[in-house]
Amino acid sequence: MAKIGLDIGHGVNTFPPNKGVYRGGKGYAEHSFNAQLGKRIKELLEANGHTVIMGQQPNKKDVPLTTRTNLYNREKVDIVVSLHANAGASSVEGRCVFYWGTSSKGRRLATHIRDEIKKAGYSTHGDGLHAGVLGTWTNLHITRETNMPAVLIEHGFMTNNKDFELIFGSKQAQYIEDMAVADVKGIQKYFGQNFKSDKPSKSKPTASKPKANPKIRTGGLNEANMNKVTRWLKENTDGWYYTFRGSGGNNPVLRTGGLNAAARKKFGAWLDGEGLWWTTEYTANHRTPTSNNIQIRTGGLSTQGAVGLVSAWLTRNKCYFVGISSRGNPVIVTGGMGTRISKEFTDLLDEHGLWWRTV
Ligand SMILES: [Zn+2]
Repeated sequence: MAKIGLDIGHGVNTFPPNKGVYRGGKGYAEHSFNAQLGKRIKELLEANGHTVIMGQQPNKKDVPLTTRTNLYNREKVDIVVSLHANAGASSVEGRCVFYWGTSSKGRRLATHIRDEIKKAGYSTHGDGLHAGVLGTWTNLHITRETNMPAVLIEHGFMTNNKDFELIFGSKQAQYIEDMAVADVKGIQKYFGQNFKSDKPSKSKPTASKPKANPKIRTGGLNEANMNKVTRWLKENTDGWYYTFRGSGGNNPVLRTGGLNAAARKKFGAWLDGEGLWWTTEYTANHRTPTSNNIQIRTGGLSTQGAVGLVSAWLTRNKCYFVGISSRGNPVIVTGGMGTRISKEFTDLLDEHGLWWRTV
């Protein structure tokens, strides 16, 4: 966990006259964008366990650059990240990251952030990296006067139509979220740590009855009926788990496990049609000690955004599953899978890079 100097570019009094653009008679201040982005980045950095020191508070009077860098140096922050938006010719667009030319750590931090911005689907200005050199336009106070790796990120050009829509226009909310996530992901990469989202997953798994593994239990099957039932299950299910047990010596029972509501209805209707007795059971503990009642546990679905994908697949394949949330980390657990369907399910999870284990 690091101490991070988060530097919001400019202040509420900078524009007008400087650092902003006019469109249709209306003024748009760069600081207003930098401040909103900074607030979101602060939340994400703190959610990832970092301490944040801000040389400039959002929507407050501009703090001189020397005051800012003196603070970061005195506080001995681990890195400084300065947030800006660019201005130039109207044809120029894209995002870029400045670092001080002699700082290899600064270059590494800048590269990680640039890479995450590209991964999020946004273009860069040139290759998106600028090494600061004395006596040139890249000679920036914030990267030069800090004793630690420091980067200044230009989040697009306010003066370009496409970037303007992102920075101030209709796409602003999504853009601020995407840039905040990209910047913090880059910072996490620099520190060799995983990125933790602070948002609960939007889609919720539709679990039927948590902690219960619904089964259909038959009873009193003679050999012919037992064959009939197992054949039907083989032909009509996508690998529902079932097991045979003799109860009291000669009352052959067949139990299924992990059926969802649709599957129970289908199987029950068929049994009714055959005139066979059956009942529904719920087993609270679905860690049934049998060898082939396969249960698969996923995890980390919120950061992968995969809850919807996984629960839709399970619903489509008529599999029983429950959603559980472990400290805001949605987990989906299945139960009562046969060998074939469990293989198809884990192939799907592998294909999407999702973690799983057999329970
Ligand atoms: Zn700026």
